[in-house]
Amino acid sequence: MIPHLPRPPLHPRLPSPVEPVADDRFHRHGVRLLLKRDDLIHPDLPGNKWRKLAPNLAAATAGGHGTLLTFGGAYSNHLRATAAAGRLLGLRTIGVVRGQELAGQPLNTSLARCADDGMRLHFVDRTTYREKRDPATLARILREVAPRDGDGGTPYVVPEGGSNAEAVRGCAELGRELQGAAGVVGVACGTGGTLAGLAAGLGEGQRALGIPVLKGGFLGDEIRTLQEAAFGGPRGDWSLDERFHCGGYGRTTPALLAFAEDFEQRHGLPVERLYVAKLLYALLTLTEEGAFAPGTRLMAVVTGTPSP
Ligand SMILES: *Cc1c(COP(=O)(O)O)cnc(C)c1O
Repeated sequence: MIPHLPRPPLHPRLPSPVEPVADDRFHRHGVRLLLKRDDLIHPDLPGNKWRKLAPNLAAATAGGHGTLLTFGGAYSNHLRATAAAGRLLGLRTIGVVRGQELAGQPLNTSLARCADDGMRLHFVDRTTYREKRDPATLARILREVAPRDGDGGTPYVVPEGGSNAEAVRGCAELGRELQGAAGVVGVACGTGGTLAGLAAGLGEGQRALGIPVLKGGFLGDEIRTLQEAAFGGPRGDWSLDERFHCGGYGRTTPALLAFAEDFEQRHGLPVERLYVAKLLYALLTLTEEGAFAPGTRLMAVVTGTPSP
C-alpha cells in the first residue's frame, strides 16, 4: 500500500474488473481472450493514467507542492489526466506543450479540456521540448512558467507520459491484480512505464507482452532504465513485439481502423485508437500466427478510453 494515496476525492474503481470476451477468432486457436478494464478506474483519469499519477499526486501533496508541472503533445492523454487531477484535488497544473506554433491558435478539444480544468498551457519549440530532460533546459522552463512566490511554490515535476519511478511502482499494482488470472498479459506501450510496472507485479509463470505504438526500437532500454529506477534492477518476464505501430504514434492504417470498428461492434467496447486498437490487433495477429499455445488465457489491458 502506498501511504497518502489521495483516494477520497478521486474514488478510483479498484481492482478494475476483468471481463471474458467471446470471440471465435481467438477461440478457434484455443486462446481465451480477457479484458482488464483499467479504462473503468476513473472517468477523468482512466487506465494507466490513474495508476501512474496517483503515487505522484501523493508525493506532490506530501512534499507540500501546490503545483504540478508536466509535459505532453497537443493530444496527450497524460496532460488531460493531469489537468483533471489538479481540478479534483485543488492543485495548480502547468502543461508544457510541444509546439511553439500552437501558441495563440485556437485550442484543439484535448487542450481545451485541459484549459477548462484550469491547466496553464505553456508552449515550447520542439528543440526545447526534446531537451526537457536536460537539467539546464528544465531550469529555464521552470523560470519561464514557475509561479512567483506565494503561488504554490516550486512545482512538482512529472515527466512526459507520467513515467517515473513512482509511476512504475504504481503500475506494479496492475500486475498484482492479475496474478493467477492469465498466462500472457498484453499491453500497449508509449513510454513503457506501464509495462515496466506490470511485469514486476505479475506472478510466477506469467509473462507480459508489450506492443509499442511508436516507431524506434529504443523502448527495451527505456523499460530496463525505468525498472532500475523503480526497483533497483530487472523484474518479471516481459518482451516487446515491435511490428504493430502502424507507422508511428498517432498513425493508423485502414486495416487497423476497420479492425477497431468491427471489435467495437462485436463486443460493445469503445476502442481507443492510438494504443488499445494496436494492442488488440497485435493480439489477434499473434493468435493467428500460433504464438500462443492452445489453452492460453490471454489478457488485454484496456489502458484508456477514446479521446474527446
Ligand atoms: C498513455 C497511454 C498508454 C501508454 O502508457 P506508457 O506507460 O507510457 O507506456 C497506453 N494506453 C493508453 C490508452 C494511454 O493513454
